[in-house]
Amino acid sequence: MEDLEMMVEPLLKWFQKNKRILPWRDDPTPYHVWISEIMLQQTRVEAVKDYYARFMKALPDIRDLAQVSDDDLMKLWQGLGYYNRARNLKKAAQRIVEEYDGKLPNRYEALLTLPGIGSYTAGAIASIAYQIKVPAVDGNVLRVMMRVLGSEKNISRPSTKVWLEERLSAILPDRVGDFNQALMELGALVCVPNGEPKCQECPLRFTCQAYQTGMTTVLPIKDEKKTRKIEDKTVLLFYFNHNIALWRRKNSGLLAGLFEFPNVSGHLTTKEVIQYLKQEGIEAIRIEPLPSAKHIFSHVEWNMIGYKIVLDDFVKERPYIWSSLEELHQKYAIPTAFGTYLELVIEELSHRTM
Ligand code: SF4
Repeated sequence: MEDLEMMVEPLLKWFQKNKRILPWRDDPTPYHVWISEIMLQQTRVEAVKDYYARFMKALPDIRDLAQVSDDDLMKLWQGLGYYNRARNLKKAAQRIVEEYDGKLPNRYEALLTLPGIGSYTAGAIASIAYQIKVPAVDGNVLRVMMRVLGSEKNISRPSTKVWLEERLSAILPDRVGDFNQALMELGALVCVPNGEPKCQECPLRFTCQAYQTGMTTVLPIKDEKKTRKIEDKTVLLFYFNHNIALWRRKNSGLLAGLFEFPNVSGHLTTKEVIQYLKQEGIEAIRIEPLPSAKHIFSHVEWNMIGYKIVLDDFVKERPYIWSSLEELHQKYAIPTAFGTYLELVIEELSHRTM
């Protein structure tokens, strides 16, 4: 018997008692598991709850997802970041409708062929929704298991994940969905990533190598984080009457295809803004500086300054799109990176429309 098998029962018992009540756990259909797992990548559980509820209300079925417009989908995803996740959801839904009669396939290998579904998500859907005995190894599971096994393998390497998937495959119990979720839950609640794990509350303490050898803060081993590129930007909030100007980002790269407030590279002084407006043929009645803001992406950091610019007419040429307060709420997805300026705009437009 693999030593690792000793962890199964205590872990399942712990999960039964300690699992969080989460909306997608109430009714773990394949669609529910899929959407929640994709949303949970790089996003906290608490933040996902509202998004999940809104998404399911708007798109209760795979066929609804396959047919949703790109802009409506981006609006539902606004603030979750990593927008390609949403685009892949729609692409996958379209394939599921065409090739699988609108039902997520109940085979691990078939799930793996769908856009945006890697071994972790395929494992989660297969094990939680279909009780198929496959592992689901995400960052939480990697951390927990490297500690339990006392392994110094580097978790940034894909080969480590494959190695762990094989080890876990050998001990998966019948309640495989619960087992996989229990490992993730333990990683989220007890065997936490930053600082000391809460070993005194852990059901795996008795078999955990890292705990027994004092290596809990050393393991897991991973690559150093790369330093981020810093980009300075000037955000220009153009107002005319009850409207704010937006434009659409280009269709590739960071935040591809989303709407944003007009902005230019570098930190412009008021004088430089006036020059820029002249070049663009835009006439301003008033220009006021706004607070600065910062947004950190995984590889880039935006340092932003901003100006409120009141115009005496619409700028009709593209790329500007004029949005009312209502449209800003209902129609256009503005990335969280512009959150500080979005709040200012909402406040300004609310006063203007009063
Ligand atoms: S004993 Fe500590 S380090 Fe080991 S799995 Fe539990 S929480 Fe993690």
